[in-house]
Amino acid sequence: MSRRSEIPTTPEGLRKYMRVIDDQDICIGCGACVSVCPTNAWELDENGKARLIWDWCIDDFSCIPVCPVNCIWKTPESPETARPKDNWYRFSRQLTPEEQKVFEEWAKKYGITGKPAQVTQ
Ligand code: SF4
Ligand code: SF4
Repeated sequence: MSRRSEIPTTPEGLRKYMRVIDDQDICIGCGACVSVCPTNAWELDENGKARLIWDWCIDDFSCIPVCPVNCIWKTPESPETARPKDNWYRFSRQLTPEEQKVFEEWAKKYGITGKPAQVTQ
């Protein structure tokens, strides 16, 4: 069922979620996460790998058990090796300066040093 109406649109809303991260080096591009996400927060990128739309994840975690190669984790449970990787996530839109701060707090809290993909929609 779609839960797109729950996608946060304010800094306070964005601050509520821990989100998930994936390792694109393990992902086999099966699309199971894309199919199951209630907010459409997963897409397959130009290399056929799962990419998270960061601001659309609402922590229901239904993507984790469906991944056949176990390469999606709750952010705090993700392996150290995945956290510095680039391009596994992007933003749905230009974040406001306040929202950008929320993102930076999130990245710092979980040690996410990988950079978002730059995608023009
Ligand atoms: S935890 Fe996974 S399935 Fe749930 S909203 Fe986030 S990306 Fe989508
Ligand atoms: S379910 Fe796992 S293997 Fe399949 S596309 Fe998503 S992250 Fe990749």
